[in-house]
Amino acid sequence: MMNAKFEGYKKYLEDMTKCYPASGELAQMQKLYAGLIDIWYNSEPDDLLPLFSFDRSGKGLRMLDVQKIKEMDFSNSGITAIKVFALMKDQGLKGTEALISLSLQESIEVIKESLSREDRYSNVLMKWILKPSFMRLIKEINIDTSLLKIREAGRCPVCNAPPGMAIIDKINNVEQRYLACCFCGYRWPYDLVGCPKCGNAKPEKLSVFVGNAGCEQGTRAASCDECKAYVKTVIINCREDKRGFHDIDMDIEDVASIPIDIIASQHGYTAICQLR
Ligand SMILES: [Zn+2]
Ligand SMILES: [Zn+2]
Repeated sequence: MMNAKFEGYKKYLEDMTKCYPASGELAQMQKLYAGLIDIWYNSEPDDLLPLFSFDRSGKGLRMLDVQKIKEMDFSNSGITAIKVFALMKDQGLKGTEALISLSLQESIEVIKESLSREDRYSNVLMKWILKPSFMRLIKEINIDTSLLKIREAGRCPVCNAPPGMAIIDKINNVEQRYLACCFCGYRWPYDLVGCPKCGNAKPEKLSVFVGNAGCEQGTRAASCDECKAYVKTVIINCREDKRGFHDIDMDIEDVASIPIDIIASQHGYTAICQLR
């Protein structure tokens, strides 16, 4: 159900695009995401919970069980897929000819096949299609993140994808960093300082990149000189729009901060979620 919050996301991306009129990439993504937002908040989710089992190591992790994909009901996601394919064609994206002619059943097969593959986490199309279902899953899932060990905590405890972004929130005046999964969107606590990719925590080997138009509301890229990775970080306390931890959508934040990706990449850094 579309509500004011999601209309607000569209306006937010529009304003950011006005802030960076020269960024063609941002403008293109802003148009695409305006359509995706309409689709996401008018789509029914599937129940993905049966797809995730607790792993037997006792680490409190949920694991996507590839064996169960075949028997899952993806009918709602199939309908979402058809809408996403149509949107992509409308926006002139490449490679949509084959997708646009798929039936509902064929679209469901594409979802099952793509989710079964090792590279599922980097499949942005799957992420767009499954977003309504992931939003439902994250509300339902309950993971004891205190059981996570730092070595494995750089990956999503639900789906094992790398973090797409980070958030720093302030609770009772204490700053806490969370990582947000680049695929399913789950957020989990992580050390305030240090690189989630390689664990480097030497202050002289960590730096930040900020945008150059001054409208990022505190969002910056935290980069690591050891592994040349960065993670874009939203600092809740610096936000002028007063959106809190639960009012922000990390996929929207990711698009809004595309100009920071461009700066970080010009300096030779790669987003953690893009690294193998
Ligand atoms: Zn995940
Ligand atoms: Zn690193």
